Amino acid sequence: MNESLVINIFLGVGIIFSILGIYIYFLRKTREKLEHGITHNVEIFEKSCENSKNATLILTTKNKIMYANKSMLTLLDMKKKLQGKKWKEIPQIKVKEAWYALDTFISSQQQRKSQSTLVFPQTILKLSEDKEIEIDLHLSRLLLAKGTHYYYDVITIYDLTQKHASDTMAHKHKLTQMPNQLQAEEDIPSLFAKIHAQKKKIAFVLMGFDNYARLRAIIGYEESNEVIIQFSHYLKNIISDMNISAYHTFDNHFLLILTNVESDEHVIDLVREIQIKLTTLYKVDNVSLHLTFSAGIALYPDSGSTAKLLDHTYKSLAQAQNYGDGKINVYLPNKSKTEYDETILHNDMEEALKRGDFEVYYQPIVNIPREEIVAAEALIRWIHPKYGMIPPDHFIALMEKTGFIVKLGQFIVNQVLTQQKHWETFGFKQIEISINVSMVEIATGDYVQNVARQLEHHDVSPSYVKFEITEGMAMIGETQTQKYFSDLKALGVKISLDDFGTGYTSFSYLKKFPADVIKIDKSLVDYILTSVEDQRIVHAIIDLGHNLGMQIVVEGIESREMVDMVTSFGCDYIQGYYFSKPLPALEFQKLIRKVD
Ligand code: C2E
Ligand code: CA
Ligand code: CA
Repeated sequence: MNESLVINIFLGVGIIFSILGIYIYFLRKTREKLEHGITHNVEIFEKSCENSKNATLILTTKNKIMYANKSMLTLLDMKKKLQGKKWKEIPQIKVKEAWYALDTFISSQQQRKSQSTLVFPQTILKLSEDKEIEIDLHLSRLLLAKGTHYYYDVITIYDLTQKHASDTMAHKHKLTQMPNQLQAEEDIPSLFAKIHAQKKKIAFVLMGFDNYARLRAIIGYEESNEVIIQFSHYLKNIISDMNISAYHTFDNHFLLILTNVESDEHVIDLVREIQIKLTTLYKVDNVSLHLTFSAGIALYPDSGSTAKLLDHTYKSLAQAQNYGDGKINVYLPNKSKTEYDETILHNDMEEALKRGDFEVYYQPIVNIPREEIVAAEALIRWIHPKYGMIPPDHFIALMEKTGFIVKLGQFIVNQVLTQQKHWETFGFKQIEISINVSMVEIATGDYVQNVARQLEHHDVSPSYVKFEITEGMAMIGETQTQKYFSDLKALGVKISLDDFGTGYTSFSYLKKFPADVIKIDKSLVDYILTSVEDQRIVHAIIDLGHNLGMQIVVEGIESREMVDMVTSFGCDYIQGYYFSKPLPALEFQKLIRKVD
């Protein structure tokens, strides 16, 4: 070998090594740069998912754990720093009925080299021997730089059990844990499908507590919540019947959906049963709060299309609550179109008064034990030329809202006093007449002066006149109200506390209120023959009233048995259909004609 050849070989090898060295140097630099970029990318990614609720894991191509966010650490119960480690215990997953170790499963997916995210919905993840959870598994690739094969696998686990739990929460009422309005709306389509198949009726019943705001103001927030909770327990019990679903839609409103309904009477009976239960459901210091609710009912097909049924239920409840406490109203769209609604009545009141539509009816009140008519209650009737007899429940609340009640009230006082003078002049028995007065009338400020003027004008003795105010109204602005009624009483008329037992009058207030008479509400008497609880309440109110020097009228008496029972409790007067319904003046006067 000559020298120059050796030199050349050395030079060649040197060059090759140098080139190789330079190549390696550049390769290393590129890789460092790349790795720097990689780390940078991964860091950004890690930061963005560190606090995510979804569990995220990054694996290297060799299946080493590169990163796990907080949720993943909690989920897999891994506490130590994991970077660069192999799995300690590999969780198992079940995909399409087959079990895999999570890492094996991920590797098998890596073969596909797909860059799009792979989703394995409703997969089971086994965390330990006795813990399996349902997850959505997402596999994606974090490509580290364009044009390279550098990537990490990103595994994201969406814990469906948590999602189910929060979905369930969203479908439950927070206070009572009953299904809420949202749940009702989701259930309704399948319920409709069911009744279409069975060709039965479906009924929606919306129940709303009466005077709930007042109840809340009186017994407080906590205790009124407790009332709602107890009511929900009661409802949960009655819906063990497969054909009833119950929902706590909002605040003090509950919705029942009844499938397999035979008739609307069947629904009304059930609502009545719940109403009775409610009257004695809740006790404060061992005394039942006499609670009532009104109910709006809409039935398919009677109340219109299924699409509108829920809306009609709400309308129906609004109507029921306008009619008064404890009312049940069935929505009948065709009927309400041809009949009057609030707007028609509102626009027609003034004309009606001029036309002479309004007429005062009289319902006898008899004394006990002689059962003679000694008094009567004046009850207003609107006899409309087009719609016939409109019950006061349908227009009194509306007139109170619009203030028209003031005019109507003056008309009634005038009518009653004219009538009394007439009976006196023509030798009928002189009896005391009760006139219902609304708080709106009293609040005008000159009610008392007006009554004084009218008594003088008609020359009627005030001892034959009594004013009835409801217990609920008597409690509004207690001191001011007391003053109004003391002024009224100073004229020589009497005062009666109407609908007693539906409000929440305290004993001390009752003592101060200048009432001569307590009128026990009809709702306390309706089931008196069968409800021992109602018997006790009525008996107790009679004793209480007597102890305060007041007399007691029981109204809503419809049978001999009821007369005998309340008589045995010691009441002083009775009013009810058993003796007579309210009658027009000419009919009523036949009952008080003197036989001399
Ligand atoms: P209210 O003052 O509690 O009147 C008693 C209601 O019970 C009357 O209803 C009466 O007809 C009814 N009633 C009496 N006995 C029985 C019975 O044995 N069975 C049944 N099922 N019902 C009986 P009405 O006349 O429909 O009056 C309803 C409400 O309208 C009254 O309740 C009262 O709050 C109001 N109202 C009636 N007339 C007037 C009025 O002139 N002025 C004012 N402000 N309100 C009135
Ligand atoms: Ca009354
Ligand atoms: Ca009453």
